[in-house]
Amino acid sequence: MHTPVTIIGAGLGGLTLARVLHVHAIPVTVYEADSSPSARAQGGLLDIHDYNGQLALEEAGLTDEFRAVVLPGRQALRVLDTDGTVLLDQPDDGTGGRPEVQRGDLRQVLLDSLPAGTVRWGHKVSGARSLGDGRHEVTFADGGTVVTGLLVGADGAWSRVRPLLSCATPEYIGKSVVETYLFDSGSRHPAAAKAVGGGMLLAPSPGKEIFAHREKDDTLHAYVGLARPRDWFAAVDFADPAAATARIAREFEGWAPELTALITDSDVAPVLRSLYALPTGHRWDRVPGVTLLGDAAHLSAPNGEGANLAMLDGAELGGAIAAHPGDVETALTVYERAMFPRSAESATDEMPGLDSAGNTARGLVDLVTEHSG
Ligand SMILES: Cc1cc2nc3c(=O)[nH]c(=O)nc-3n(C[C@H](O)[C@H](O)[C@H](O)COP(=O)(O)OP(=O)(O)OC[C@H]3O[C@@H](n4cnc5c(N)ncnc54)[C@H](O)[C@@H]3O)c2cc1C
Repeated sequence: MHTPVTIIGAGLGGLTLARVLHVHAIPVTVYEADSSPSARAQGGLLDIHDYNGQLALEEAGLTDEFRAVVLPGRQALRVLDTDGTVLLDQPDDGTGGRPEVQRGDLRQVLLDSLPAGTVRWGHKVSGARSLGDGRHEVTFADGGTVVTGLLVGADGAWSRVRPLLSCATPEYIGKSVVETYLFDSGSRHPAAAKAVGGGMLLAPSPGKEIFAHREKDDTLHAYVGLARPRDWFAAVDFADPAAATARIAREFEGWAPELTALITDSDVAPVLRSLYALPTGHRWDRVPGVTLLGDAAHLSAPNGEGANLAMLDGAELGGAIAAHPGDVETALTVYERAMFPRSAESATDEMPGLDSAGNTARGLVDLVTEHSG
């Protein structure tokens, strides 16, 4: 007999776990703070890797559904120097191992694969406590409670389940990103569209970078990264979009106009995202009846792996639970034994992406060439 599983958080990690459990006919309920699947925009493109995210989707029996939402051509990569010089222009020949999908589309694939009622929307967890014998009581913001024999915290960076296992909290990594969107770029923002090309653009320099994707419907989505303390960003008035845009753009004076257009020509107010990470190698001693996955377990500086790892965690945890009916502790031990070193290694892995603030564009080209060579 399998213990019914209670998952907190319907992100990609929690939903992958729920799906794998469902495939194995193990009862599962997911409690999610958002009031509905569409309560919040789900963010931009994710490249789903053949060595982690795609393996998880295969385990979930959703490879065909995943392929159906892949955006063709988006694995193209361009690296530009700050003056606009094109240092690398790799087309997408359709053979790459990192196809791109909109995060919202992938989340919907997972939601559609679960029986109605599996996800309980509008259930924000405020805390959880041990009842002994591996059982836990979860409390929701509205005062309601549930008791469970197997609790999984898949509730992201600020997990309310994590304190059951660890006293670690995420710390600011010394860098934030400002997100912008340019719509109908081919007709309305042609210079920026040309700079980004068909897929991804990286334009790094020490302490600052512009990173952009061509999303669905010809939308350019840029992440403008700056290594500055939180106080520096606090002094920028994000309530005044024009002033905030001008302040951020000032940090990129002298950069090519087709790159700075990704800041100044945004069709939406710039959105600040401060970046946090748990200590690299974060782990805990086994506590009966509870574990964590994804960002709740190993939030790291964005390096293009976080969502992929969250899904692999979910798939592996689901597989371990299925393989050990009636033996929750062995299942959690098997899962954590693989998850701890994998996430620690990934957090230190230098990959092209949002972790590239310390790199020059030329250094990044060397790195990309090494990785693909
Ligand atoms: C700017 C940026 C760019 C990124 N780019 C990439 C990328 O290109 N590729 C990649 O692989 N990763 C990327 N990541 C990392 C990736 O977004 C995360 O690692 C991934 O979303 C983690 O998935 P998760 O399921 O663990 O958590 P989340 O996606 O954070 O999901 C957690 C869920 O739990 C819910 N929740 C939170 N608190 C509660 C509560 N108290 N009660 C109930 N529910 C709750 C949330 O509403 C959410 O639905 C990026 C991150 C950032 C910041």
